[in-house]
Amino acid sequence: MDKKIEKKIFQLRKELLKYNDQYYNFGISEISDYHFDKKLKELSFLENLYPELQNPISPTIKVGAKVHPTDSSISPVYHHKYKMYSIQNTYSKKELMIWKKKISKSVHSLSFVCEPKYDGVSINLIYKNGFLTNAVTRGDGEKGEDVTRNIKMIKYIPFKLRGNNYYPTYLEIRGEIFLPIKNFIEINQQRINNGLPPYTNPRNTASGTLLKIHDPKEVRKRDLFCIAFHVVGNYLPFSTQYEAIKYIKNWGFQAPTARFCRNMKEVFHFIDFWKICQNQLPYHTDGIVIKVNEYQKQSFLGFTNKYPRWAIAYKFRQKLYETKLLSITYQVGRTGIITPVANVVPILITGTTIKRVALYNDRFIQKMGIHYEDTLLLEKGGNIIPKVTKINIEKRSNQTFPVFFLKKCPSCNSILTKKNELFYCTHQNCFSKRIGKIIHFVNVMNIKKIGVKMIHKLYKKGFLYNFYDLYELKKKELFQIDGVKEKLACGILNNIETSKKNPYCRVLFALGIRYVGEYFSKKLTENFLNINSLMHANYNHLISISGIGKNIAKSIITYFSITEHIHIVKMLVKYGLKLHITKCTMIKKYSLIQGKSFVFTGKLSCMTRNEAKNIVEFLGGRVYNTVNNKINFIVVGKNFGSKLKKSMKKNHVKILTEQIFLDLLQKEKNQT
Ligand SMILES: [Zn+2]
Repeated sequence: MDKKIEKKIFQLRKELLKYNDQYYNFGISEISDYHFDKKLKELSFLENLYPELQNPISPTIKVGAKVHPTDSSISPVYHHKYKMYSIQNTYSKKELMIWKKKISKSVHSLSFVCEPKYDGVSINLIYKNGFLTNAVTRGDGEKGEDVTRNIKMIKYIPFKLRGNNYYPTYLEIRGEIFLPIKNFIEINQQRINNGLPPYTNPRNTASGTLLKIHDPKEVRKRDLFCIAFHVVGNYLPFSTQYEAIKYIKNWGFQAPTARFCRNMKEVFHFIDFWKICQNQLPYHTDGIVIKVNEYQKQSFLGFTNKYPRWAIAYKFRQKLYETKLLSITYQVGRTGIITPVANVVPILITGTTIKRVALYNDRFIQKMGIHYEDTLLLEKGGNIIPKVTKINIEKRSNQTFPVFFLKKCPSCNSILTKKNELFYCTHQNCFSKRIGKIIHFVNVMNIKKIGVKMIHKLYKKGFLYNFYDLYELKKKELFQIDGVKEKLACGILNNIETSKKNPYCRVLFALGIRYVGEYFSKKLTENFLNINSLMHANYNHLISISGIGKNIAKSIITYFSITEHIHIVKMLVKYGLKLHITKCTMIKKYSLIQGKSFVFTGKLSCMTRNEAKNIVEFLGGRVYNTVNNKINFIVVGKNFGSKLKKSMKKNHVKILTEQIFLDLLQKEKNQT
């Protein structure tokens, strides 16, 4: 045995396993699909040549992702009744012909069904007596993760099979879950607004949505799409793939545009047609799946360890675009994250001129081995965001040297801190961070007529240092900015004034607390009725709220531990911004307080009587000043007065100590 070959196999396996792990478990892909598949083929070729070196954990045998049975935060493990296979693929029509020839040796007069290949997360939907009972990811093919709860939030998946068609008592519908490109772009825009790094591609975002998001409402908001294309089970009422697609549609699923092909010529026609159309779809497809149409012939051909012999995917090769690296800009986000961006010689990629390409982080730069002035090969990953997939080393000059990440903040020159692969500027008064925070505030509060340029100008003139300075802006200051006349100045001041009407949750979001985006701001304001209670909330209280995790809790506590932030809140309150919940924004379903009447006597130790009155009223209760027949509760504080005696005469009035009253409020909050 050639030692070299053994080493090569070992190396390829190690590399591919690592890429697989990164892709399925961490959503990172540092290699293009094409190069991954090429390596996989090379490994498969060598393993076939030297079967004694085969190994059950080889990526040529194992499918997809690791399943994490021990991590409690991840969905429960579910063993598939019927194994979920992956699909063999090729980038060449010649190989398609070879595949056809090979299977033609076992079965004759073949016909095919062609379907677009969706780039999403494989899912197994289990229906018993027509009802969806479980939804499981492919996982390693044998067992996956049960994501039923989140799947039920996808409107394209019926709870109950529709139509009058017959269906067997046990049925598995296989399909793919993905995120439409439009939603992906929107989610990323929001993440950027919230100071979070954007997601790399729709596939990983869809997978993360299914596996990592605990809040079904958030899953629903993301509006995932599902295409179903395969049926598994006994006593099926059809015998071909083409009929199966029709049934799938009738049962209430979205099914692929399938084409029945009598021969390979027709298959090639379909491929060529889709190659042109793929970019016009609202979601990402990366090839065409060709299946033998008749079930009988499928079962005759059977499966290998990893894939069915009766199907193959023809993948569209992503075109590579060559351009030159001009320079690297380091952007400072409002949370201090430093993001490297490559400025390249402008290049036209599928109709868009690309001048900048994300380099993500230092790890990516080192991994790609990028040198200054390098010639980069770009691929439009998932047809959305171009990314660097390769470097044309032949074109590298001798005079160049590798790119090293900045050590100091490009904006304030302070030393950067590294945490989880990311570099941060932690300086409180960093110019870019400050500007970023003001931009975020203006965007979230929807203050029109103040753009990024205007913010810079106001900042430079010293009129706008903190975002609350907006509420002190004077006309005469605005006039000092080039091009600002009476009309614009009035418009700006008017919009600033109007922004005070934004609800509490909006203002909280605008503060720019890390991880506290639109959704969590709402969640927090439903639980902490005013900013004071949020400012003083402790860690355990925060994480006891459903959906609030460690990171958010820590981030909130850190934020309010900084004196400047306390000052910001004070100033916003002073200018009349809403930092408490108002009646119209309260969303309550079940209430212990709603519809009940209260009376207070004596002094409460933790809030004024007026505050208590407000809270009760916000929760839908009523507060009376005197004891009457409508009263349900009397809350007794220190140095209580005659009201207690009066109410004791009324049998229906319950007496609450301050502590019990607070517990009642707490219970109320926990119900939201
Ligand atoms: Zn800085």
